[in-house]
Formats: sequence, structure tokens, C-alpha cells
Amino acid sequence: MDRRDFLKLSVIAPVAGSVLLLPAVAGARGIPAESMGGRPTGLCYQGPPTGIITSTLKDLFKIGPGPSSSHTVAPIRIASNFRATVAALPVEQLAKAERIEVTLFGSLSATGKGHRTDRALLAGLLGQQPETCDTALMDALQDTTQVRTTQIGGQQFRLSGDTIVWDRGDHVFPYANTLMMRLLAGDGTSIFEREYYSTGGGFYTWKGEPPPDRGQPVHRFGSMTELKQVAAATGLPLHQIMLQNEMAIMGVSEQVVNDHLDLVIDTMDRGVTLGLTEEGLLPGPFEFYRKAKRINEKAAADQGGDGFMGELSSYALAVAEGNAAGRLAVTAPTLGSAGTMPAVLYTLNHRLHVPRAAMRQGLMAAGAVGLICKTNASVAGAEMGCQAEIGVASAMAAALLASAMGAPLDVTENAATIALEHHLGMTCDPVGGFVLIPCIERNAFGAVKAYNAWLIAKNEIASQHWEDLDRVIAAMADAGRAMPARLREMGTGGLGVTMVEC
Ligand code: SF4
Repeated sequence: MDRRDFLKLSVIAPVAGSVLLLPAVAGARGIPAESMGGRPTGLCYQGPPTGIITSTLKDLFKIGPGPSSSHTVAPIRIASNFRATVAALPVEQLAKAERIEVTLFGSLSATGKGHRTDRALLAGLLGQQPETCDTALMDALQDTTQVRTTQIGGQQFRLSGDTIVWDRGDHVFPYANTLMMRLLAGDGTSIFEREYYSTGGGFYTWKGEPPPDRGQPVHRFGSMTELKQVAAATGLPLHQIMLQNEMAIMGVSEQVVNDHLDLVIDTMDRGVTLGLTEEGLLPGPFEFYRKAKRINEKAAADQGGDGFMGELSSYALAVAEGNAAGRLAVTAPTLGSAGTMPAVLYTLNHRLHVPRAAMRQGLMAAGAVGLICKTNASVAGAEMGCQAEIGVASAMAAALLASAMGAPLDVTENAATIALEHHLGMTCDPVGGFVLIPCIERNAFGAVKAYNAWLIAKNEIASQHWEDLDRVIAAMADAGRAMPARLREMGTGGLGVTMVEC
């Protein structure tokens, strides 16, 4: 039993009586069931998950064009993977191919037009990569009647809006965002096909994908509980654990890791700076005006807390508006939630004047939180609602802030826990499938909640905090599984209905 367990049990003791302490001493840190009399048995926490996280900070923090990591970045990456796979097919097989067809299911089909999934797929098939994609080409691909040609493995293919088949929202595939890519002969028979899944945050996999050929982490953990055990056993700070794992898994030097973190910092910073200069309408089927610049200018005239909250909100709005316009942003953990962390990072950089090394440390703490959330629940709105996007973004931003400000691990965890806890149950209901309402403002709320979480965590007595990150992630997974499908990025529930006139 650690000090926190002891203090918590001490709190329970006068209420529950000393005999009730025995099971709790042997169990986890939660509130003993016996202290809540009359509770049905079995409704309790089963303990933190165990496992090994082998995803990396580079996997988590990806750079790509908006507006959606699951519906834009992953589709470019998937189409690019399919292109490379097709190019490597035997010549005689490729010689029979005449066309490529992409069929979308689930949320990709239901909201893909609003998220510009068709453009992303065509861009990937044309050879574009998310980090370097030509955003002018992405805009030009809006005209899906135009036919473009591309060479793959020596064969010429014609690509247009007809390449994409918008199938149905309901399906039986194992992932909400599924797409089937097919290479077809002239008579429509399939020469090669692959069933891909966009799993949130720009990550993807496909049916039967072999394990990636990469290194093993030095420090093995699958939850925050296990991460804290590693920290206690090694005496290493959180960012060193993350750094050593990143280097081992990716097989790269510390300099390479830092270079990527610097690219993330600079991309986030540029997103705020650019977004604060832009005004006018955002692309979409209804009038939606940018407001980050105006909010920022008004906030500059406000004093004290109003001014600070207005500025913090404007930074998040700036990046979220840029993302909606298709600008490059960082998945943190997704593009729908790409404004929350940059708002905090910009504050650290330009208001608190935190050194770059501290910002990198903060990013590594945020990455740990994001990877644990992704591993044990989800970062996809289509799987677990907006709690998994803005909620996780807010938790990551709170960890970033705490760690960059030099907080110890327990305070960093508490900040992330508080931020995530107060997003639990939040649904994903983008109006018309566009990342506009409620997404853009949600980024501002994610940032403000992250800051508030940090203020509470740094000023309370850390060991007296009841909730821990693993329990709150488990609660998010529970709420996400209970959420109706229409409130998980289908655009057919919540604001996606009430904001639409009959
Ligand atoms: S409502 Fe939240 S989860 Fe859904 S698309 Fe918007 S930001 Fe993403």
C-alpha cells in the first residue's frame, strides 16, 4: 500500500469501521465497496490493464491536412499504402488491372463528404503524403468530376469521384471506420483487395496486417499504474522513460526524437499564429465564420482572468479553424481536437516563456497520456464519442502543462485525470459531418478545462486525490461502449439533428 492508499483508507476508516479496511488494503486504491452499503456485487473496478505499449510519440503526433485524422489523414495514408502495395504486385497481375475502387463504410461513408475523405483518398492514390501534401491540389480535388491519371507500377489509372463508393453507415466490420480498396480488372473481377480500418488519430491497420518490424520498448507498461511502477523502480522522470522507449522502438537517436518534437511544437505554434491572422468564411455548406482573430483582439483589451481565458480560447479556435480549412495540423490526439494542445503550448511558449527543453518534456508527458488512452479505450469519436477526442486532448494538454511547468508525476497524472474526467460521456455529433459545429469551440473548452485541471492539480494535495487516470480511462471506455452509434460521429444525433431545420 502506498502513501496515497493509506491516506484514502484513513479517510474511509471513521465512516466504514476498521473491519472494512481489510479487503481494500489487499485491493486497489478505490473506495471500498463496503463503505457504500447495499451496492450490488460485481459493480467495481477490475484493476488497471497490463500490457506493453509499442506505439510511439511519432505515431501519435502526426502532421497532416485537416479537417479529420480518421477521415482525412488516415485515408491519405491508407491510399498511399495501397498504391505502394499495388506497385509491388507481379507484372502479369498488374497488367490485367484497369481501375481502382474504394468503398467506404460506417462513419467514413456517413460523414466522409463533410470530412473530405474522397479528396484525401484521391490525393493518396495520386502519390501524396500527409506531411508534405499539396494543399492546393487537395482544394482542386474538390471537383470530383475531373478525371486525373496516375502511373502505378507502370500501369496508368484514371481517378475521379467515381473511384469512391459511399456504401452504408451500418456494417459488421470490427472497426467503425472501414474501407475496402480494390484493384479491378476490366470485367470488374477483383485482382487484389485489402480491408483497411481507420482506427482514430490518423492510425490505420488492415485485416491480417503482420506485426510491425520495429524494436521493443526498454520500459514496459500498458497503463499509468504500470508507468508509475516503472518510474518508481528506475528513478527516471516520465520524459526520460518516454524518450528511451521512443529511441528503442524506432531505432533512432535522441536528436531524431527531439527533431520530431520540435517539428510538432513549430507546427502547433504556426497554426496559432496563422489562425489569428485569418478571418471570413470557412469552407462548408452553411455560413460559418472564423472568430479566433476577433476573440483574440477583444481578449487583449480585457484584464486578468477574462483576458487570459479569452486568449487561451482564441489560440485553440485559431488552430481548429485552420484545421477546418484544410491546413496542416498535428494529431493531438486527432485533428478534430487539434486546437486544444497548441493553445496550451502557445501559452507556455509566448506567455509563460518556458524553455524548449521543458516543452519537449511536456509533449512526452502528453504523449504518454494519449498513448495510454488510445491503448485502453480509444481516441476516435466514431468509436467512443467526443470524450475520446476533445476529452483525451484536454487530458494530454493538462499533462503537457503540468510536466512543462516541472510538476512531479503524481501531479501530472492528476491534472490529466481531472481534465479527462470532466469530459466523460461527451458525444460526437458534428453537424452535417463537418468539423465545424460543435468541434471548433470544443477545442477552446478542452484548453480551458486543461488549464483549470492543472490549477486544481498543482494546488491540491496530490496524495488526497481519489481518481486516477486508469480508472477514468476505464470509465470513458464504459461510457463509449454504451453510447448509441448515432452519437458517435454519424451526424445523425444530438446537434447533428437539432441544428438542422426540417
Ligand atoms: S464532435 Fe468532437 S469527436 Fe466529433 S468530429 Fe467534432 S471534435 Fe471530433
